[in-house]
Amino acid sequence: MGRLDGKVAIVTGGGRGLGKVYSLRMAEEGAKIAVADILDKEAQQTAEEINAKGGSAFSLKVDVTSEEDTRRMADETVQKFGRIDILINNAGLYYGITRKLFTEIPIEEWDRMMAINVKGPWLCARAVFPQMKKQGKGKIINISSESVFAGSKNLSHYIASKAAVIGLTRDLAAELGQYGIRVNVLAPGFTDTAASRTIGSIEKYDVSRIPLRRVQQPEDLVGPIIFFASDESDFITGATLMVDGGRQMY
Ligand code: NAD
Repeated sequence: MGRLDGKVAIVTGGGRGLGKVYSLRMAEEGAKIAVADILDKEAQQTAEEINAKGGSAFSLKVDVTSEEDTRRMADETVQKFGRIDILINNAGLYYGITRKLFTEIPIEEWDRMMAINVKGPWLCARAVFPQMKKQGKGKIINISSESVFAGSKNLSHYIASKAAVIGLTRDLAAELGQYGIRVNVLAPGFTDTAASRTIGSIEKYDVSRIPLRRVQQPEDLVGPIIFFASDESDFITGATLMVDGGRQMY
């Protein structure tokens, strides 16, 4: 018995990194997965790995900043799997971002960050809403970041976008609770992914700042994601769960 048996999930940014881990592990718990990513080949690869292991998945090339793409994502998921129970709004602009003074960030880079990290989850939520409303239940999990709480600097566009995700979540939780749709936030600490390695050194990361004294791994986020996606968290909405080995206490 899987904890997500019979559920259908859309995972944005499921082609690589954390989104790929969420997709594979949610499939192991019995969910059917729509792997949506702007990187077509990577999304296909994730879906193939799930199907090869006996799970059920398909891939979609989706740009989360496009309303048309997000609508197609929801429509095709319903066509293929009949319903949408879970949306993991994981796609984000993170890979390769560089620290710059707020006065040095190009306007286009600021706008792109907001489009992918804030408008994207908003559009994806709008796209799945009619189906979740029809079902009378749904789970939307948005991904923020521990960096919002850490006093990080020189990433004003990224930090602002990930703080906005928390505001968006609280609004949607208040609007959608009446339809049985739960909306929560997972805020990961600095986690060892290829994208993180473009931003900081994992080897030099000062683990003495983390009470649990080690670098965070993608697997550390799997339990919390499955908890928010499953019926186990049915009376929780509008919440932000930090998963960071205790670095931030709030
Ligand atoms: P990643 O860059 O490997 O993953 C992001 C995924 O989103 C990629 O597959 C990418 O192709 C996809 N994507 C980007 N723009 C898109 C678009 N317009 N439309 C559709 N898909 C798009 O990074 P990751 O380390 O796996 O992080 C995943 C998420 O977790 C991001 O939202 C990131 O901000 C967040 N996060 C990561 C960490 C960390 O330490 N790794 C910490 C906190 C939060």
